[in-house]
Amino acid sequence: MRIAVYPGSFDPITVGHLDIIRRLIPLYDEVVVLVSHSTNKSYLFGAEERKEMLEESFHGMPNVRVDIYEGLTVDYLKKINAKVIVRGLRAVVDFEYEMAMANMNKKLAPEIETALIFASPDCYYISSRAIKEIARFGGNLDGLVPAHVHQRLLYKLQIK
Ligand code: ADP
Repeated sequence: MRIAVYPGSFDPITVGHLDIIRRLIPLYDEVVVLVSHSTNKSYLFGAEERKEMLEESFHGMPNVRVDIYEGLTVDYLKKINAKVIVRGLRAVVDFEYEMAMANMNKKLAPEIETALIFASPDCYYISSRAIKEIARFGGNLDGLVPAHVHQRLLYKLQIK
């Protein structure tokens, strides 16, 4: 079975992430969207909340599931016998970070490949960081995140 693992923070999921997931579906038997939980990062949403938002976003899409993992991504792939990590590439600024990570993962697990997918032209400028900033100041998020994510952002930021 060909399994693609798409790891990330997804804090929160945006239409850019969704675009990558939709494009992966026809290429693999199963797509696992992996919510990473790194101790070095601070998140607006907890891992369970990020997982719920992902699941609500691709409700009805075949062969996609979400999981949470706190360890090394390559160890997760070994656990489920997957061979491909997928990451999205927006612009040159993403490149060095993705290249270093892909090479480090190659060093840790030579049997695992990293596949990079270019962001679609109408998604390359979208980031979770910008989404949170816009939400904080009451900006318009139409077309940038699913409606239910927008609702969660408003709720979360009000009670914070
Ligand atoms: P991380 O903190 O691991 O970078 P993100 O949730 O920010 O997690 O992103 C997960 C992956 O999705 C990364 O490879 C990132 O480059 C990619 N990505 C983020 N936003 C977009 C977008 N708008 N279009 C395509 N890929 C994206």
